[in-house]
Amino acid sequence: MVPRKLSFLLSVFLLALPAIAQQQAAPKPKPRVIVVGVNGMELDMIRPLLLKGQMPNLASVIERGAYGKLRTVSAPNCPRVYSTLFTSTYPEEHGVTGFIVGGITANSNMLKEEPVWSMLSKGGITVGMANVPATFPVMPVNGYMISGMLTRGKNCEDGVLCAPKLSEVMGGDAVYPKSMQPELLKKVGDFYIDCERMPAAGDLKGHETELIDKWLGKVQVIREQQTRLFDYLLTEHPTDFTFLAQSCEDRTGHWLYPITPFNVGYNPSVNNVRLDAFPNQYIAFDKVLGSILKHVDENTYLVIFSDHGIKPLREFEEKDPHAHMDHQKTTPVIAKHDFADGDDVPGSFFAMGPGIKHDLRLMGLAASVYDVAPTLLHIYGIEQPKQMRGRILTEIFESSDNKVAVKK
Ligand SMILES: [Zn+2]
Repeated sequence: MVPRKLSFLLSVFLLALPAIAQQQAAPKPKPRVIVVGVNGMELDMIRPLLLKGQMPNLASVIERGAYGKLRTVSAPNCPRVYSTLFTSTYPEEHGVTGFIVGGITANSNMLKEEPVWSMLSKGGITVGMANVPATFPVMPVNGYMISGMLTRGKNCEDGVLCAPKLSEVMGGDAVYPKSMQPELLKKVGDFYIDCERMPAAGDLKGHETELIDKWLGKVQVIREQQTRLFDYLLTEHPTDFTFLAQSCEDRTGHWLYPITPFNVGYNPSVNNVRLDAFPNQYIAFDKVLGSILKHVDENTYLVIFSDHGIKPLREFEEKDPHAHMDHQKTTPVIAKHDFADGDDVPGSFFAMGPGIKHDLRLMGLAASVYDVAPTLLHIYGIEQPKQMRGRILTEIFESSDNKVAVKK
């Protein structure tokens, strides 16, 4: 039996040929979609910043589009939710159930269901992806792919919550096609692929302020590198479908969530040092968004989503004495998101583009992470495959047969 994953990868190439022929017969341009994934974006943090005018770019997207909470899976974490979002199937079905699966760091070879970018590639749509979690080693697409969170490398051998540089990657390819790697090193520089590892409790003790500031400085370096990378890709390698992601916001929230002294895990020498660290992440993200928005015209769809939110430790954690520790129990944390009830930490989504309603707010948890892939396929007029568990978010469109691509 040919493994399912291998068969869909091969078919990307086999099916690209008729798709090209079709394209020549009907030169109608394909919809252009830019998706930006922000790991663990927390609406409780963002709303006050929006009200105070500190996230003008996101505010402009909300005004021009639809937004709401995004229901997530139970015990949400990055690889688990992103893989659910890619495939619109249950974690047990797609196989990437967490950071570690069967004792091994989650990797793209474990993905048992076809991801949306593979379906788009087969449909003749050009695909570009950068820093998307759980895409290491990279897979062939009708375009390019640069891996993200869970990429393994020097000083990051297990690939879990650490940051190898592009030149330091080990155990698989971080760039497809391979020929793009020297170009990126030359034109963008040797960038960090994921966010920085959080310091251990032992290292922090007595050096809290110094280490917190050093860590935040590194986070900003990584963000600036990512901004440069995204800008380069959108300028020099434009694709019909582009999927970019970043992950430093979430990690900052884990240990620097600004909360009251009443909270579980509160340690004033850590949690009282930089109270603005977490909100500042979103102000910085808004600048990244500003640089992406320069590539968005009135014919471009922009979809911003987060896979889950993040909240201070809560009652579920009482029974676990190490609940306020992370990274193999070494890093003190004060907020988390892998709660059994994922509805406590919903993600969020923001969408704008041709035919998407303006200033629409979806109430409750009507939209879920399962709905993102079917909705993206809908924009391209590709029918939702049977295995997908989600639905097209028809309510965000002006009408079902509006300016979005006509269904075959
Ligand atoms: Zn997290």
